[in-house]
Amino acid sequence: MTDRINVTKTSLPPMEEYIQEISSMWESHWITNMGEKHIELEKKLKEYLDIDHVTLFTNGHLALENAIAAMDLKGEIITTPYTFASTTHAIIRNNIKPVFCDVEPDTCTLDANKIEELITPETSAIIPVHVYGNICNVEEIERIAKKHNLKVIYDAAHAFGESYKGKNVSRFGDASMFSFHATKVFNTVEGGAVTCADQELQSKLYYIKNFGIPGEDRIVFPGGNAKMSEFHAAMGLCNLRHLEEYKAGRKNVVERYQKNLSNIDGLRIWKKQAEVDSNYAYFPVFFESNGYDRNHVADQLKEHNIFARKYFYPLTNNNEWFGNHGSETPVALRLSEQVLTLPLYPDLPLETVDEICDIVIHSKL
Ligand SMILES: *Cc1c(COP(=O)(O)O)cnc(C)c1O
Repeated sequence: MTDRINVTKTSLPPMEEYIQEISSMWESHWITNMGEKHIELEKKLKEYLDIDHVTLFTNGHLALENAIAAMDLKGEIITTPYTFASTTHAIIRNNIKPVFCDVEPDTCTLDANKIEELITPETSAIIPVHVYGNICNVEEIERIAKKHNLKVIYDAAHAFGESYKGKNVSRFGDASMFSFHATKVFNTVEGGAVTCADQELQSKLYYIKNFGIPGEDRIVFPGGNAKMSEFHAAMGLCNLRHLEEYKAGRKNVVERYQKNLSNIDGLRIWKKQAEVDSNYAYFPVFFESNGYDRNHVADQLKEHNIFARKYFYPLTNNNEWFGNHGSETPVALRLSEQVLTLPLYPDLPLETVDEICDIVIHSKL
């Protein structure tokens, strides 16, 4: 293939629509600090995510890092190593010890059966991740958290707009973090949010992202700066209007992959969970056996100018600076060595999907 195909391609609204959206700023000269676009995006997201409070942030990472700080968590947090580095780093940067729990092979999310044995008197919270938009075992996690009086913050960076058993994903746990990075299903260029039902938590999140300043003449908290600008919020407003199109395009691509790659001996492909209204964020393939080797398949694709990604490899507990502890979570370690996430975006041509599948199927050692 001559044109480079990346694992994803940023979804953009028509340029005229964005220009229209930002034009009022040339009248108001109000381009950040919770202006009109920011207020409107928060309102639209509250409706879309069916939740009482949405706090916008500069990016998803700061949303999570600040949610942990706002909840005053301490000691240890039980989490997954099968995630983007951000999840683990948000914990460590709050001077909290991440305690790694292994994952389920099917969904790649926290194995709820292994959480309780990791709880100590120091444990303050659980931070699970809805990996690839696969929804965690929310019922069991809620039961454990209640029983042991732990907070739950979901890293829902992959799960924007999804619902499980008819309930929006933002409604699980004490809070959820969403990322609106350019590579995600819904983007504001850079951006993120924390959703919660608790008014007090929402106020604290607001102070944290705005220097601890609730209004004029008062400072209530040693907060930092993680505000979303009006230009970013405007991009969000445009992209939100096109979200259903984006999701439909992704679904088409995923279904083509599933058609081409099911029943290939040695490959295990992503399956939609029952009772989940999916956003089709990622299409991971696990190369398990039968002469397939993940690294070899990735190299073969590269030779054809196709750049799939090893999401998630390496595990966040299995790198040099963190002491290479991957063997403590053997299921996650195995998955990280088998996985390749194939290119997926709304307008990826189905003929290209067919070509990618052809290369994958024929990439045995
Ligand atoms: C993208 C992502 C983040 C970080 O979000 P940013 O908006 O890029 O800061 C955190 N966790 C997961 C699982 C992600 O995929």
